[in-house]
This record gives sequence, C-alpha cells and structure tokens, in this order.
Amino acid sequence: MTMQADAQARLFLCLKDNYGVLLHDAATGATAAIDAPEAAPVEAALTASGWKLTDILVTHHHGDHTAGIAELKRRHHCRVVAPRREAAKIPDVDTTVGEGDTVALGALTAQVIETPGHTLGQINYFFPTAKLLFAGDTLFSIGCGRVIEGTPEMMWQSLLKLRALPDDTRIYCGHEYTDANIRFAITIEPDNPALAARAAEVKRQLAAGSPTIPSLMGDEKRANPFLRADVPAVAAAVGLSGKPAAEVFAEVRARKNRF
Ligand SMILES: [Zn+2]
Repeated sequence: MTMQADAQARLFLCLKDNYGVLLHDAATGATAAIDAPEAAPVEAALTASGWKLTDILVTHHHGDHTAGIAELKRRHHCRVVAPRREAAKIPDVDTTVGEGDTVALGALTAQVIETPGHTLGQINYFFPTAKLLFAGDTLFSIGCGRVIEGTPEMMWQSLLKLRALPDDTRIYCGHEYTDANIRFAITIEPDNPALAARAAEVKRQLAAGSPTIPSLMGDEKRANPFLRADVPAVAAAVGLSGKPAAEVFAEVRARKNRF
C-alpha cells in the first residue's frame, strides 16, 4: 500500500463557517486534528471514524482555530504542535515548529511552510507524499486570508510559496468562503474560463450540500485572483498594468475587503 492511500482526511464544519479536519495515518493509527476551532465537532468526528486523537497541528493563534485545544488535550493527552513565532498565544503547546521543519504523524511526514501575512507566525502543513496542504487562513479556495498582522507584500510572497506546490496538491483551508470568493473573483477576471469552471463546480457542490473543500492547487493557480497578481489581465483589471505584482495583490485584497 502506498503512503498516499494510508492518509485519510475527514472534513467537518465547526462554529459558523470554520472547517475542522482529522488526518489519519491508517498504517499506524496516528490521527491529527488540524486546528481545533471547538472541541465538540472534533469529538463527534473521532467517534464517527473510530480514530484516536494523537496530535493537534495548529496553523495560527486565532481563537477560531485554537479554542478547542485545551479540552481536547485534557481528554486525549495528544501532542500539540504550533508555530514557533506565536506559540505563546496558543494553549498547551508541546512542540514548536518553523520554516523547513518536518512533523511526523505516524508514518506520514509534513513539511512546515511559514506564510506570514494573515498573522506573522502562520504556518502551513504540507504532506508531499499524500499531496495534502493544510493552509489555515492563508489560502482559501478562490481567495486568501485577510492581511491582519503582516503587509500585503509579505502575504504575496507567502502565497507565491504555496503556488510553487504541485498542481495535484489537495488544499484544506480554514473556512467555507468559496461562494463569496467566487462572486468577488468574477469582478476581477470575468472572462477567465478556469474561474467559470470552478464557479460551476462550486454551484453544484453547494446545491448538493457538499463542502467546496478540498480544492486543487492547479485550479487555484488558474482561477484564484490572489495567486494571479502577476498576470497582466489581473493588473489591468485593477488599473495597475505594468506595476509590481505585490502592488497589484494589495489592490485586489483592498477591493475584496470593500466588496
Ligand atoms: Zn485566522
């Protein structure tokens, strides 16, 4: 059996529009919650799957990603892995990690990718063999996180790091924002056929009551305007033809904030 077949992900809603995910290594039984927005939905997913929680992999310090940690830790005595640069703001941390570190989950291995912008210490967990990316609030489907602690330039550089990952990477993000993101993206690239295709797919998914997550990195590269600030059509759409990509990104992000 390949390692990819051993990695099983289970997605579920938390709070209003947050996503929780369990990642399970069938070879060893190790199971991680990626972030813990609240404990009860994580417990329900553990019960439904029969998996035992061994780890919590935290992407960033915001309360809607960390509020369930203390209760889960108390009940399961799991290891809590968190970004080094903001570990002091996260409860019950056992292990801190940063750029280039690896995190073992049973026989699976994640690479840690730092993406400052939404917060200064935000990290992503990329499992290269399973081709899974847990992106927290950095990259959403057809969107990206608000630039709260960092600068737009910093966020653009962070998104470029994620854009360098393979097209067949499946992306799990922290929120179900895809529908609103698409409505905005169409104002930037109304004639992008990849965006139209993703819009049709998302319409079908939501009509069926299905999540729009995970999305594929290849689709995001072709349709997500926040990964396309260096595409001439995107610069032209915001009146910044020939300007640096980071400046175009900043303008697209500012327009989304007002949308
Ligand atoms: Zn956040």
